[in-house]
Amino acid sequence: MTQEAEKVVDLLIIGAGPGGMASAIEAKLAGLDNIVVVDKAPHHNDMIHKFYKKGKRVDKDWMGIKAEFTGNVSFDECSKEEYIQQMDDKLRDAGVLDKFEYNHDILRVNKGKDGLFEMIFAQEKIAKNIKSIKAKNVILSVGRMGKPNKPKYKFPRDIKALLNFNLSKVENGERVMIVGGGDTAGEYAYGLVELEGLQDCVVTLNYRKSEITRMSPINTKMCTKYLNNGKILNKMGVDIESVEPSPSGKIQVNFTDGTSAEYDRAVYALGGTTPKDLLVNSGVKTGEWDVPVYNETTFKTNVEGLYTIGDVITDQGSITLAFNNASDAVKSIVQNLK
Ligand SMILES: Cc1cc2nc3c(=O)[nH]c(=O)nc-3n(C[C@H](O)[C@H](O)[C@H](O)COP(=O)(O)OP(=O)(O)OC[C@H]3O[C@@H](n4cnc5c(N)ncnc54)[C@H](O)[C@@H]3O)c2cc1C
Repeated sequence: MTQEAEKVVDLLIIGAGPGGMASAIEAKLAGLDNIVVVDKAPHHNDMIHKFYKKGKRVDKDWMGIKAEFTGNVSFDECSKEEYIQQMDDKLRDAGVLDKFEYNHDILRVNKGKDGLFEMIFAQEKIAKNIKSIKAKNVILSVGRMGKPNKPKYKFPRDIKALLNFNLSKVENGERVMIVGGGDTAGEYAYGLVELEGLQDCVVTLNYRKSEITRMSPINTKMCTKYLNNGKILNKMGVDIESVEPSPSGKIQVNFTDGTSAEYDRAVYALGGTTPKDLLVNSGVKTGEWDVPVYNETTFKTNVEGLYTIGDVITDQGSITLAFNNASDAVKSIVQNLK
């Protein structure tokens, strides 16, 4: 058997969302060219492709946090489609598009006795050019939406396909219940009312609190408008006890106030969880809520050379924060490589 030639990169970036993408650009600008970015999806910014609704406005201030760019990467507020185009242009202008390797799902990284990291893949088929890569440093920027938060009650198998975490399966004319009280839930709810190509959906917003308290001013205004004129049906101030198949094969939702209602589909917008397995199996210490323990200035974890940024370290993440974390982590890596 022939041994694959080992290739050592200065920086391996896992995840090609805003954090990973900005890390690649920052590295290049800092003169670090020997890098590779690996993502399990077939393109960069996959979470945005999947979870942002069509035409969504990409806000700079997200989840009530005022955004200031502190690194070299920024974006202009625009639609989802324009944002992805802006990112394509930025990656091309920085000359880093060829650093991205797609369709590779990473289980963990192992730090060997030689001080280099190797990737352990979730799948068997791995492209030859990345199989043998070892890295001096790693930035983990895998986000949280690989594992969206689920409610505590069970999803019965017969209706699992009707219980979703984004709008991609919603069809014309469906009765859809959106569950959640944050910006994503709000945007999904009024997005369905306004979305071109998806007419006549009957949209209900369910949130355990009776008031909107966690949305940005613009999303609060939009939801309030449609709740007041009845275009979004109000099922707020009550929790869900359970879901079960209705006699007609749809979803019967049982609320904690004793009422029940039937829907064609429910979409849960409850955020995501930290990728604990990947972190812990890579040797990273985690603390409360499974968030990794990291240095707030350098984004270094307890494993020397292993950094983590973006949504992995916060449930109140934003594109700007991911860009800014990338800038700080790369600065620290460049300093250490000197
Ligand atoms: C519906 C919705 C709307 C939002 N709207 C806004 C907004 O308007 N403005 C704003 O600033 N923020 C918004 N956010 C938040 C913002 O999208 C995130 O904060 C940002 O995408 C975080 O970037 P990230 O790089 O940390 O993670 P992600 O964007 O989640 O990227 C993680 C990447 O890692 C890859 N990956 C995951 N696991 C693995 C693995 N094991 N192996 C290889 N690759 C892996 C994924 O495929 C993905 O490409 C929104 C979030 C949601 C869900």
